[in-house]
Amino acid sequence: MTRTLVIAGHGMAGHRLAEEVLARDAARTWRLVILAEEDRPAYDRVALSTLFDGKSPEDLALTGHDFLTHPRVRLRLRTTVTAIDRGRTAVICQDGTEVRYDALVLATGSRPFVPPVPGAALPGSFVYRTVADIDAIRAAAGEPGRPAVVIGGGLLGLEAANGLRSLGLRPHIVETAPRLMALQLDEGAGRVLARLIGALGVTAHCSSTTASVEAGPDGRVASVRLSGGTELPASVVVFAAGVRPRDELAEPAGLARGERGGFLVDELCRTGGGPIWAIGECAAVSGRTYGLAAPGYRMARSVADQLTNGGGVPFTGADMSTRLKLIGVDVASFGDAFARTEGAMEYVVQNDAAATYAKLVLGPDGRTLLGGVLAGDARAYPGLRSLTGLPFGVPPDELLAPGRSRNGP
Ligand SMILES: Cc1cc2nc3c(=O)[nH]c(=O)nc-3n(C[C@H](O)[C@H](O)[C@H](O)COP(=O)(O)OP(=O)(O)OC[C@H]3O[C@@H](n4cnc5c(N)ncnc54)[C@H](O)[C@@H]3O)c2cc1C
Repeated sequence: MTRTLVIAGHGMAGHRLAEEVLARDAARTWRLVILAEEDRPAYDRVALSTLFDGKSPEDLALTGHDFLTHPRVRLRLRTTVTAIDRGRTAVICQDGTEVRYDALVLATGSRPFVPPVPGAALPGSFVYRTVADIDAIRAAAGEPGRPAVVIGGGLLGLEAANGLRSLGLRPHIVETAPRLMALQLDEGAGRVLARLIGALGVTAHCSSTTASVEAGPDGRVASVRLSGGTELPASVVVFAAGVRPRDELAEPAGLARGERGGFLVDELCRTGGGPIWAIGECAAVSGRTYGLAAPGYRMARSVADQLTNGGGVPFTGADMSTRLKLIGVDVASFGDAFARTEGAMEYVVQNDAAATYAKLVLGPDGRTLLGGVLAGDARAYPGLRSLTGLPFGVPPDELLAPGRSRNGP
């Protein structure tokens, strides 16, 4: 007997789930209906910024001809799920159509958070999440040399600023925290990062809050006013101030939400609302959401196993290590980067002349690598990341050797 798996959202996690189910479902018991709000099939959102470097949306596509024409897959683009009727085991779409499910997986991702500042919705103001956003920013950029402002100095804000720079604009970043990438970097690394992006023509304004976005005589964005009164001219404003899980379907359907949003699920990604799972950025697994692609892939694999062979590895947390993808700016953070483990020790090598900074966080025995932060030269990152949690038998500076060979004293 054929059963219907409905997937709400065709992003990175939703697509991975579809692929994993098809690969495992040897008995061909599942038929997939994918309801996708965007106007294109799933693409590599992680690589979104490469659209500014000459890549096309087609280069980012995650779906091939085989998937799009698969006899057991029905992909409906421009289709938003607006409600879940658990009694009828059906979802309702924005055009009023109803789709019955035997299993429903919510993979609705996140929406960009736009702080409620006056002028945030003016023409010329954008977010940074989809191919459509990039198209809109490109269309609004205009003449090279014009100033632009990115609100948010995290990973996404830096990527956005770099994208604006490659359009020929002069970006400024406004960040509330005292340093850029405050969630990943410590003060020393933040300083190096600000210097490196400054050399690329990007100006950072840390410890600064946006008071308003101001319009020019044409009604479009003209400047950003900071709380201290400083006014930054801007022909384009991009909000990259974090994301919020897209969990608006939860409450009306009687599904629980995590304290900080997201569909609340257990370690097997089950909502507890019948045969309904949530995966990817919209899922609050045991209350916690994950803003990276890899955790969503693991959730997808677990749910695919549950649907096809009754198994499924519980999702118990993820490695949140990160490396910035900008060419010319090398920073990375991994493991216990802020030395939160009791008794942890820090080993820091700072070279202001070369604009490099490295911090290793060691266990109380001084012989176990717990984490670290690298800025200016992060070539040691892959090796260090794989060593994390393990004892090492060499002096700490040798662990950093690949980086120091270029810029070291
Ligand atoms: C510029 C950028 C750079 C990034 N860089 C990295 C990186 O370097 N490393 C990393 O790990 N992660 C990175 N990320 C984050 C990564 O892209 C996300 O973690 C990943 O896309 C999450 O996958 P998802 O399927 O949960 O959500 P998404 O990929 O956002 O997909 C959700 C989809 O569901 C659709 N949808 C929402 N609601 C509904 C509904 N009601 N009905 C139908 N469809 C709906 C949305 O429109 C969207 O298409 C980056 C993100 C951005 C924007």
